[in-house]
Amino acid sequence: MYYGFDMGGTKIEFGAFDAQRNRLIQKRVPTPRDDYQALLDVFTSLTLEADSELGLVGSVGIGIPGMPDGETGALFTANVPAAMGKPLAKDLSTRIGRPVKVENDANCFALSEAWDDAMVDYPSVLGIILGTGVGGGLIINGRPFSGRNHIVGEFGHLRLPVDALELLGRDIPRVHCGCGHDGCIENYISGRGFEWLYQHFYQEPLTAQAIIERYRAKDARAQEHVARFIDVLAVCLANVFTVLDPHAVVLGGGLSNFDEMYLLLPERIRPHLLSVARVPPIEKARWGDSGGVRGAAFLNLGV
Ligand SMILES: [Zn+2]
Repeated sequence: MYYGFDMGGTKIEFGAFDAQRNRLIQKRVPTPRDDYQALLDVFTSLTLEADSELGLVGSVGIGIPGMPDGETGALFTANVPAAMGKPLAKDLSTRIGRPVKVENDANCFALSEAWDDAMVDYPSVLGIILGTGVGGGLIINGRPFSGRNHIVGEFGHLRLPVDALELLGRDIPRVHCGCGHDGCIENYISGRGFEWLYQHFYQEPLTAQAIIERYRAKDARAQEHVARFIDVLAVCLANVFTVLDPHAVVLGGGLSNFDEMYLLLPERIRPHLLSVARVPPIEKARWGDSGGVRGAAFLNLGV
C-alpha cells in the first residue's frame, strides 16, 4: 500500500493507493504552519490510522512546496515555516518506523502523470507546470530524476533565449524574478507572464481568461498576442527538449487549459529542434489537483 501526502501552505492532503493505483483513503487536514512537532503529529497520526484501517504497513512519500537539501535532507519550503530547515524525512521515519521519501511537489505532479495508463509505457515523461510560475519534473522509468540539488525541473529559471528576444523585441524588460535573477523565462511563459506580456504590448490589464476569450472571438490584438506567446513558449520548450529529449510531455497549471495550445505548439517547436529530432507528444495533465498526493504516494511505486 502506498501512502502519499501533499503538503501545502494551508492544507495537507493524504491518500492511500493500492498497487493498481486506486485510491482507497482520502483525507484533508489543515497544515500546522508554525509548529514542527504538530506537523510531525499530523503525518504520524494519518499514517498510523491508515495502517490500522487497512491492516498493514504502508510506504510513505511526501510532496512539498520546495525541496530537501541533496545532502542533509533539510527542507527549503517558504510556505510552511515550521518545516523550513528541518530534516522531515529523517524525523518522521524515526517516529513511524519506516523509510520516508520527500520530493518537490512539481516532481510529484510529473510522477503522477507519468503513472497514468496513457503515459506509463513511455521511458521518460517531462511534466511542465505553466501556472503562476513555471516548474516541473523529469520522470525516467517511473521515477523522478531530481538531480544533486533537486532542481532538475526548475527550468522556469532559465534565462530568455535569443530567439525570444527577437520575438519580443530586444528592449523587452528583464523582469526581476523571485529567485533573485533577472529575465527568467517563467516571468514570460507562465500564466502570469501571459498576462504581463499582454499588458506590456497593449497597455491593458486583462486576465488570461479574458485574453483567451478575445482570442476565440478573433480579436486582432489577442490573436497577435497568442501567436507571439506560442512562439516564445515554443523556443523555450525547444531548448528544454534539446537537453532532455523526453519521450512525452505533459502540461499542467492554469495555462494548460488553453486547449488551442496543443495544436499550435508542435509546429512552432519543430524548427527550433535539431533536424533529427521529433517533437514529443504534448498532452494536457489528467489528474488536476490530485496529482500532488498521487505523485507523493508513487515515490515508492516500482522501487
Ligand atoms: Zn528565476
